[in-house]
Amino acid sequence: MHKSFDIAIIGGGNAGLTLAKNLSDHRAAENIAVIEPTHPREKHANWCSWHHEENLSNYQDAIKGVWDSWSIIDDKTNIKHNSSEYKYACIDSALYLSCIEEKLRTSSIKIIRDSVEKIKIKKNNKRELQCENNTYEALHVYDSRPPEIKDDSLRQHFLGIEYELHNNQNIDAPILMDFRVDQACGLHFIYALPFSDNRLLVESTVISKKFNEKKWYRNQIKQWIKHRNLKVNKIISEEVGAISQERCSHKNKYAKAIGARGGAVRLSSGYAFHNIQEQVKLLAKNIASDNYNTSNVISNRIHFMDNLFNKVLINNPERSIELFLSTACHLTGKEFAEFMLNKANILTWCKVIMSMPKINFMKELIR
Ligand SMILES: Cc1cc2nc3c(=O)[nH]c(=O)nc-3n(C[C@H](O)[C@H](O)[C@H](O)COP(=O)(O)OP(=O)(O)OC[C@H]3O[C@@H](n4cnc5c(N)ncnc54)[C@H](O)[C@@H]3O)c2cc1C
Repeated sequence: MHKSFDIAIIGGGNAGLTLAKNLSDHRAAENIAVIEPTHPREKHANWCSWHHEENLSNYQDAIKGVWDSWSIIDDKTNIKHNSSEYKYACIDSALYLSCIEEKLRTSSIKIIRDSVEKIKIKKNNKRELQCENNTYEALHVYDSRPPEIKDDSLRQHFLGIEYELHNNQNIDAPILMDFRVDQACGLHFIYALPFSDNRLLVESTVISKKFNEKKWYRNQIKQWIKHRNLKVNKIISEEVGAISQERCSHKNKYAKAIGARGGAVRLSSGYAFHNIQEQVKLLAKNIASDNYNTSNVISNRIHFMDNLFNKVLINNPERSIELFLSTACHLTGKEFAEFMLNKANILTWCKVIMSMPKINFMKELIR
Protein backbone atom coordinates (compact mmCIF):
# COMPACT_ATOMS: atom_id res chain seq x y z
CA MET A 1 0.00 0.00 0.00
CA HIS A 2 1.17 3.53 -0.77
CA LYS A 3 2.09 5.86 2.06
CA SER A 4 -0.91 8.11 2.64
CA PHE A 5 -1.03 11.75 3.84
CA ASP A 6 -3.74 14.25 4.71
CA ILE A 7 -1.83 16.98 2.89
CA ALA A 8 0.92 16.67 0.29
CA ILE A 9 2.83 19.78 -0.74
CA ILE A 10 4.63 19.48 -4.06
CA GLY A 11 7.84 21.54 -4.04
CA GLY A 12 9.82 22.68 -1.03
CA GLY A 13 10.73 26.18 -2.22
CA ASN A 14 9.47 29.45 -0.80
CA ALA A 15 5.75 28.60 -0.93
CA GLY A 16 5.96 24.88 -0.12
CA LEU A 17 8.27 25.03 2.89
CA THR A 18 6.76 28.24 4.28
CA LEU A 19 3.31 26.64 4.08
CA ALA A 20 4.64 23.54 5.88
CA LYS A 21 6.20 25.71 8.60
CA ASN A 22 3.00 27.73 9.05
CA LEU A 23 0.94 24.52 9.25
CA SER A 24 3.32 23.22 11.88
CA ASP A 25 3.08 26.52 13.83
CA HIS A 26 -0.73 26.36 13.68
CA ARG A 27 -0.71 22.63 14.50
CA ALA A 28 -3.20 22.59 11.64
CA ALA A 29 -2.68 18.99 10.58
CA GLU A 30 -0.44 16.15 11.60
CA ASN A 31 -0.01 14.00 8.57
CA ILE A 32 1.74 16.24 6.04
CA ALA A 33 4.47 15.62 3.46
CA VAL A 34 6.56 18.00 1.39
CA ILE A 35 7.86 16.34 -1.78
CA GLU A 36 10.97 18.12 -3.07
CA PRO A 37 13.79 16.66 -5.19
CA THR A 38 16.64 19.01 -4.22
CA HIS A 39 18.35 20.02 -0.99
CA PRO A 40 17.91 23.67 0.12
CA ARG A 41 21.68 24.15 0.04
CA GLU A 42 21.55 23.76 -3.74
CA LYS A 43 19.22 26.74 -4.10
CA HIS A 44 21.09 29.98 -4.55
CA ALA A 45 18.83 32.95 -4.99
CA ASN A 46 18.61 36.35 -3.35
CA TRP A 47 15.00 37.05 -2.42
CA CYS A 48 14.47 40.76 -1.88
CA SER A 49 11.43 42.67 -0.77
CA TRP A 50 10.22 45.49 1.44
CA HIS A 51 9.45 44.61 5.05
CA HIS A 52 8.21 46.30 8.19
CA GLU A 53 11.13 46.27 10.62
CA GLU A 54 9.23 44.13 13.15
CA ASN A 55 8.60 41.44 10.49
CA LEU A 56 12.29 41.06 9.73
CA SER A 57 12.78 38.94 12.85
CA ASN A 58 10.89 36.16 11.00
CA TYR A 59 13.87 35.86 8.68
CA GLN A 60 16.72 36.72 11.05
CA ASP A 61 18.79 33.58 10.31
CA ALA A 62 18.76 34.18 6.56
CA ILE A 63 19.11 37.95 6.09
CA LYS A 64 22.03 39.02 3.86
CA GLY A 65 21.33 42.75 3.90
CA VAL A 66 18.86 45.37 5.11
CA TRP A 67 18.65 48.94 3.81
CA ASP A 68 16.33 51.89 4.40
CA SER A 69 16.96 53.54 1.04
CA TRP A 70 17.25 52.56 -2.62
CA SER A 71 17.65 54.30 -5.97
CA ILE A 72 16.58 54.19 -9.61
CA ILE A 73 18.87 55.84 -12.15
CA ASP A 74 19.08 56.86 -15.81
CA ASP A 75 21.21 59.36 -17.76
CA LYS A 76 19.37 62.40 -16.44
CA THR A 77 17.80 61.33 -13.16
CA ASN A 78 18.88 59.72 -9.92
CA ILE A 79 15.82 59.03 -7.78
CA LYS A 80 16.63 58.16 -4.20
CA HIS A 81 13.92 56.86 -1.90
CA ASN A 82 14.19 56.66 1.88
CA SER A 83 11.73 55.03 4.20
CA SER A 84 11.73 54.65 7.94
CA GLU A 85 8.63 52.40 7.82
CA TYR A 86 9.79 49.89 5.22
CA LYS A 87 13.22 48.31 4.88
CA TYR A 88 14.46 46.70 1.70
CA ALA A 89 15.91 43.34 2.73
CA CYS A 90 17.67 40.48 0.97
CA ILE A 91 17.10 36.92 2.14
CA ASP A 92 19.47 34.08 1.28
CA SER A 93 17.15 31.40 -0.12
CA ALA A 94 19.45 28.49 0.75
CA LEU A 95 19.72 29.63 4.38
CA TYR A 96 16.01 30.40 4.68
CA LEU A 97 14.92 27.02 3.32
CA SER A 98 17.59 25.09 5.29
CA CYS A 99 16.42 26.71 8.54
CA ILE A 100 12.81 25.70 7.85
CA GLU A 101 13.81 22.12 7.00
CA GLU A 102 15.82 22.00 10.22
CA LYS A 103 12.84 23.21 12.28
CA LEU A 104 10.49 20.74 10.58
CA ARG A 105 12.78 17.86 11.51
CA THR A 106 11.37 17.99 15.05
CA SER A 107 7.76 18.15 13.78
CA SER A 108 5.52 15.44 12.35
CA ILE A 109 5.88 16.91 8.83
CA LYS A 110 7.88 14.70 6.49
CA ILE A 111 10.22 15.94 3.80
CA ILE A 112 10.48 13.43 0.99
CA ARG A 113 13.30 13.79 -1.54
CA ASP A 114 11.47 12.82 -4.69
CA SER A 115 10.14 14.36 -7.86
CA VAL A 116 6.42 14.31 -8.69
CA GLU A 117 5.74 13.14 -12.22
CA LYS A 118 1.98 12.62 -12.36
CA ILE A 119 -1.11 13.34 -10.22
CA LYS A 120 -4.12 11.07 -10.59
CA ILE A 121 -7.44 10.79 -8.79
CA LYS A 122 -8.41 7.50 -7.16
CA LYS A 123 -11.84 5.97 -6.62
CA ASN A 124 -11.71 6.87 -2.90
CA ASN A 125 -11.23 10.52 -3.98
CA LYS A 126 -7.63 10.57 -2.78
CA ARG A 127 -4.93 11.92 -5.07
CA GLU A 128 -2.22 9.57 -6.20
CA LEU A 129 1.18 11.19 -6.63
CA GLN A 130 3.40 9.19 -8.91
CA CYS A 131 6.98 10.19 -8.21
CA GLU A 132 10.32 9.22 -9.66
CA ASN A 133 11.10 6.80 -6.80
CA ASN A 134 7.78 6.04 -5.16
CA THR A 135 4.02 6.58 -5.20
CA TYR A 136 2.10 8.41 -2.45
CA GLU A 137 -1.49 9.35 -1.85
CA ALA A 138 -3.05 12.38 -0.21
CA LEU A 139 -6.43 13.90 0.48
CA HIS A 140 -5.34 17.46 -0.36
CA VAL A 141 -2.52 18.44 -2.70
CA TYR A 142 -0.86 21.87 -3.01
CA ASP A 143 1.39 22.27 -6.05
CA SER A 144 4.21 24.84 -6.05
CA ARG A 145 6.28 23.56 -8.97
CA PRO A 146 7.56 26.54 -10.99
CA PRO A 147 5.13 27.52 -13.76
CA GLU A 148 6.22 26.95 -17.33
CA ILE A 149 7.08 30.12 -19.21
CA LYS A 150 5.67 29.97 -22.74
CA ASP A 151 8.12 30.70 -25.57
CA ASP A 152 6.39 33.90 -26.65
CA SER A 153 5.52 35.35 -23.26
CA LEU A 154 6.92 38.50 -21.70
CA ARG A 155 9.45 37.71 -19.00
CA GLN A 156 12.07 39.25 -16.79
CA HIS A 157 15.30 37.31 -17.33
CA PHE A 158 18.50 37.91 -15.46
CA LEU A 159 21.95 36.80 -14.46
CA GLY A 160 23.57 38.07 -11.29
CA ILE A 161 27.12 37.77 -10.01
CA GLU A 162 28.11 38.27 -6.38
CA TYR A 163 31.64 39.68 -6.13
CA GLU A 164 34.27 40.15 -3.50
CA LEU A 165 36.08 43.35 -4.47
CA HIS A 166 39.66 44.55 -3.88
CA ASN A 167 38.64 48.13 -3.41
CA ASN A 168 35.71 49.54 -1.48
CA GLN A 169 32.67 50.15 -3.61
CA ASN A 170 30.99 53.49 -3.08
CA ILE A 171 27.39 52.31 -3.33
CA ASP A 172 25.64 52.81 -0.03
CA ALA A 173 22.18 51.46 -0.90
CA PRO A 174 20.56 49.10 -3.42
CA ILE A 175 20.27 50.30 -6.99
CA LEU A 176 16.98 48.80 -8.12
CA MET A 177 17.38 49.89 -11.72
CA ASP A 178 20.32 51.54 -13.47
CA PHE A 179 19.22 52.07 -17.05
CA ARG A 180 22.58 53.49 -18.24
CA VAL A 181 23.32 50.26 -20.14
CA ASP A 182 22.83 48.69 -23.58
CA GLN A 183 19.11 48.85 -24.51
CA ALA A 184 19.33 46.97 -27.82
CA CYS A 185 17.83 43.65 -26.59
CA GLY A 186 14.78 44.94 -24.72
CA LEU A 187 14.38 47.01 -21.59
CA HIS A 188 17.64 46.42 -19.74
CA PHE A 189 18.90 47.53 -16.35
CA ILE A 190 21.52 46.72 -13.77
CA TYR A 191 20.40 45.82 -10.26
CA ALA A 192 23.05 46.14 -7.55
CA LEU A 193 23.04 45.18 -3.87
CA PRO A 194 25.92 46.32 -1.66
CA PHE A 195 26.16 43.66 1.08
CA SER A 196 29.27 45.27 2.59
CA ASP A 197 32.12 47.61 1.60
CA ASN A 198 33.72 44.95 -0.57
CA ARG A 199 30.85 42.60 -1.34
CA LEU A 200 28.45 43.42 -4.15
CA LEU A 201 25.77 41.60 -6.15
CA VAL A 202 25.39 42.93 -9.68
CA GLU A 203 22.56 41.63 -11.82
CA SER A 204 21.82 42.31 -15.47
CA THR A 205 18.05 42.11 -16.06
CA VAL A 206 16.14 42.31 -19.33
CA ILE A 207 12.38 42.55 -19.81
CA SER A 208 11.58 41.02 -23.20
CA LYS A 209 10.19 37.90 -24.84
CA LYS A 210 13.58 36.35 -25.62
CA PHE A 211 16.41 35.02 -23.46
CA ASN A 212 19.96 36.16 -24.13
CA GLU A 213 23.02 33.96 -23.94
CA LYS A 214 24.67 33.90 -20.49
CA LYS A 215 27.80 35.55 -21.83
CA TRP A 216 25.74 38.58 -22.90
CA TYR A 217 24.62 39.32 -19.30
CA ARG A 218 28.14 38.60 -17.97
CA ASN A 219 29.55 41.11 -20.45
CA GLN A 220 27.02 43.77 -19.42
CA ILE A 221 27.92 43.25 -15.77
CA LYS A 222 31.67 43.41 -16.54
CA GLN A 223 31.24 46.72 -18.37
CA TRP A 224 29.19 48.21 -15.52
CA ILE A 225 31.84 47.11 -13.00
CA LYS A 226 34.57 48.63 -15.20
CA HIS A 227 32.79 51.98 -15.55
CA ARG A 228 32.68 52.21 -11.78
CA ASN A 229 36.38 51.38 -11.42
CA LEU A 230 35.62 48.40 -9.22
CA LYS A 231 38.41 45.82 -8.95
CA VAL A 232 37.23 42.23 -8.59
CA ASN A 233 39.04 39.94 -6.18
CA LYS A 234 36.84 36.91 -6.76
CA ILE A 235 33.41 35.74 -7.84
CA ILE A 236 31.43 34.32 -4.94
CA SER A 237 28.37 33.01 -6.75
CA GLU A 238 26.21 33.34 -9.83
CA GLU A 239 22.41 33.40 -9.98
CA VAL A 240 20.34 32.93 -13.13
CA GLY A 241 16.57 33.20 -13.39
CA ALA A 242 13.48 34.11 -15.33
CA ILE A 243 10.10 35.28 -14.06
CA SER A 244 7.04 35.33 -16.29
CA GLN A 245 5.35 38.73 -16.53
CA GLU A 246 2.22 37.19 -17.96
CA ARG A 247 -0.43 35.36 -15.98
CA CYS A 248 0.06 31.64 -16.35
CA SER A 249 -2.83 29.27 -16.06
CA HIS A 250 -2.11 26.05 -14.18
CA LYS A 251 -5.55 24.69 -13.59
CA ASN A 252 -5.46 21.16 -12.23
CA LYS A 253 -8.57 19.80 -10.60
CA TYR A 254 -6.51 17.40 -8.47
CA ALA A 255 -4.09 19.94 -6.97
CA LYS A 256 -4.33 23.56 -5.88
CA ALA A 257 -1.59 25.86 -7.15
CA ILE A 258 0.41 27.98 -4.69
CA GLY A 259 3.43 30.28 -4.95
CA ALA A 260 4.50 31.63 -8.35
CA ARG A 261 2.40 28.86 -9.91
CA GLY A 262 -0.59 30.11 -7.90
CA GLY A 263 -0.47 33.64 -9.32
CA ALA A 264 1.59 35.29 -6.56
CA VAL A 265 3.88 37.22 -8.94
CA ARG A 266 3.35 40.95 -9.56
CA LEU A 267 3.24 41.05 -13.35
CA SER A 268 4.78 44.52 -13.70
CA SER A 269 7.75 43.97 -11.40
CA GLY A 270 8.31 40.22 -10.96
CA TYR A 271 8.28 40.65 -7.16
CA ALA A 272 6.66 37.63 -5.54
CA PHE A 273 8.33 36.97 -2.18
CA HIS A 274 5.96 39.02 -0.04
CA ASN A 275 2.86 37.77 -1.89
CA ILE A 276 3.89 34.14 -1.44
CA GLN A 277 4.45 34.66 2.29
CA GLU A 278 1.00 36.27 2.62
CA GLN A 279 -0.66 33.61 0.47
CA VAL A 280 0.60 30.65 2.50
CA LYS A 281 0.06 32.40 5.84
CA LEU A 282 -3.61 32.81 4.97
CA LEU A 283 -3.85 29.27 3.60
CA ALA A 284 -2.41 27.73 6.79
CA LYS A 285 -4.90 29.73 8.85
CA ASN A 286 -7.75 28.51 6.63
CA ILE A 287 -6.61 24.89 6.81
CA ALA A 288 -6.55 25.17 10.60
CA SER A 289 -10.27 25.88 10.37
CA ASP A 290 -10.90 23.10 7.82
CA ASN A 291 -11.00 25.34 4.75
CA TYR A 292 -8.59 23.90 2.16
CA ASN A 293 -9.16 26.51 -0.56
CA THR A 294 -6.50 28.93 -1.74
CA SER A 295 -7.28 32.61 -2.26
CA ASN A 296 -6.08 35.25 -4.70
CA VAL A 297 -3.31 37.14 -3.01
CA ILE A 298 -3.11 39.79 -5.74
CA SER A 299 -6.43 41.33 -6.70
CA ASN A 300 -7.74 41.12 -10.27
CA ARG A 301 -7.62 44.93 -10.36
CA ILE A 302 -3.87 44.93 -9.70
CA HIS A 303 -3.29 42.14 -12.25
CA PHE A 304 -5.30 44.18 -14.78
CA MET A 305 -3.31 47.37 -14.14
CA ASP A 306 0.02 45.50 -14.24
CA ASN A 307 -0.97 43.85 -17.52
CA LEU A 308 -1.89 47.20 -19.01
CA PHE A 309 1.42 48.67 -17.82
CA ASN A 310 3.29 45.78 -19.50
CA LYS A 311 1.41 46.30 -22.77
CA VAL A 312 2.34 49.99 -22.82
CA LEU A 313 5.92 49.03 -21.96
CA ILE A 314 6.30 46.49 -24.73
CA ASN A 315 4.47 48.48 -27.44
CA ASN A 316 6.23 51.77 -26.68
CA PRO A 317 9.87 50.81 -26.15
CA GLU A 318 10.98 54.42 -26.56
CA ARG A 319 9.01 55.33 -23.41
CA SER A 320 9.71 52.23 -21.28
CA ILE A 321 12.43 53.73 -19.06
CA GLU A 322 10.30 56.83 -18.51
CA LEU A 323 7.41 54.61 -17.27
CA PHE A 324 9.48 53.29 -14.36
CA LEU A 325 11.20 56.59 -13.56
CA SER A 326 7.98 58.52 -13.66
CA THR A 327 6.28 56.14 -11.19
CA ALA A 328 9.24 56.28 -8.81
CA CYS A 329 9.62 60.04 -9.16
CA HIS A 330 6.03 60.77 -8.10
CA LEU A 331 6.09 58.57 -5.00
CA THR A 332 7.81 58.80 -1.62
CA GLY A 333 9.81 55.82 -0.37
CA LYS A 334 6.90 54.71 1.81
CA GLU A 335 4.39 55.01 -1.04
CA PHE A 336 6.71 53.19 -3.43
CA ALA A 337 7.20 50.29 -0.98
CA GLU A 338 3.45 50.07 -0.37
CA PHE A 339 2.79 50.12 -4.10
CA MET A 340 5.23 47.23 -4.62
CA LEU A 341 3.64 45.32 -1.72
CA ASN A 342 0.07 45.75 -3.12
CA LYS A 343 -0.77 47.98 -0.16
CA ALA A 344 -1.09 51.27 -2.01
CA ASN A 345 -4.01 53.43 -0.97
CA ILE A 346 -6.25 55.29 -3.41
CA LEU A 347 -4.11 58.45 -3.23
CA THR A 348 -0.97 56.55 -4.21
CA TRP A 349 -2.82 54.86 -7.08
CA CYS A 350 -3.98 58.31 -8.28
CA LYS A 351 -0.38 59.55 -8.19
CA VAL A 352 0.77 56.53 -10.21
CA ILE A 353 -2.00 56.92 -12.79
CA MET A 354 -1.39 60.67 -13.10
CA SER A 355 2.32 60.05 -13.71
CA MET A 356 1.67 57.72 -16.68
CA PRO A 357 1.50 58.76 -20.38
CA LYS A 358 -2.29 58.74 -20.67
CA ILE A 359 -2.61 58.54 -24.45
CA ASN A 360 -0.48 55.38 -24.59
CA PHE A 361 -2.56 53.80 -21.84
CA MET A 362 -5.86 54.74 -23.50
CA LYS A 363 -4.64 53.23 -26.79
CA GLU A 364 -3.78 49.94 -25.07
CA LEU A 365 -7.10 49.93 -23.24
CA ILE A 366 -9.11 50.07 -26.45
CA ARG A 367 -6.77 47.91 -28.55
C1 LIG B 1 16.68 33.49 -9.29
C2 LIG B 1 15.40 34.13 -8.79
C3 LIG B 1 15.47 35.25 -7.98
C4 LIG B 1 14.27 35.82 -7.51
N1 LIG B 1 14.35 36.94 -6.74
C5 LIG B 1 13.22 37.47 -6.25
C6 LIG B 1 13.29 38.61 -5.41
O1 LIG B 1 14.37 39.17 -5.14
N2 LIG B 1 12.14 39.12 -4.89
C7 LIG B 1 10.92 38.55 -5.17
O2 LIG B 1 9.90 39.04 -4.67
N3 LIG B 1 10.82 37.50 -6.01
C8 LIG B 1 11.94 36.93 -6.55
N4 LIG B 1 11.84 35.85 -7.36
C9 LIG B 1 10.50 35.34 -7.70
C10 LIG B 1 9.92 34.39 -6.61
O3 LIG B 1 9.86 35.05 -5.36
C11 LIG B 1 10.76 33.15 -6.45
O4 LIG B 1 10.79 32.48 -7.68
C12 LIG B 1 10.22 32.18 -5.40
O5 LIG B 1 11.18 31.20 -5.18
C13 LIG B 1 8.94 31.50 -5.86
O6 LIG B 1 8.54 30.60 -4.85
P1 LIG B 1 7.75 29.28 -5.20
O7 LIG B 1 7.61 28.48 -3.98
O8 LIG B 1 6.55 29.60 -6.01
O9 LIG B 1 8.74 28.51 -6.22
P2 LIG B 1 10.16 27.92 -5.86
O10 LIG B 1 10.78 28.60 -4.71
O11 LIG B 1 10.89 27.89 -7.17
O12 LIG B 1 9.83 26.42 -5.41
C14 LIG B 1 9.38 25.44 -6.31
C15 LIG B 1 9.97 24.11 -5.86
O13 LIG B 1 9.42 23.05 -6.64
C16 LIG B 1 10.42 22.07 -6.78
N5 LIG B 1 10.08 21.18 -7.88
C17 LIG B 1 10.27 21.38 -9.21
N6 LIG B 1 9.83 20.30 -9.89
C18 LIG B 1 9.34 19.43 -8.98
C19 LIG B 1 8.75 18.14 -9.07
N7 LIG B 1 8.57 17.54 -10.25
N8 LIG B 1 8.37 17.52 -7.94
C20 LIG B 1 8.52 18.12 -6.72
N9 LIG B 1 9.09 19.34 -6.58
C21 LIG B 1 9.49 19.98 -7.70
C22 LIG B 1 11.68 22.89 -7.02
O14 LIG B 1 12.86 22.13 -6.76
C23 LIG B 1 11.48 24.05 -6.07
O15 LIG B 1 12.12 23.83 -4.83
C24 LIG B 1 13.01 35.27 -7.87
C25 LIG B 1 12.97 34.18 -8.74
C26 LIG B 1 14.15 33.62 -9.19
C27 LIG B 1 14.05 32.44 -10.14
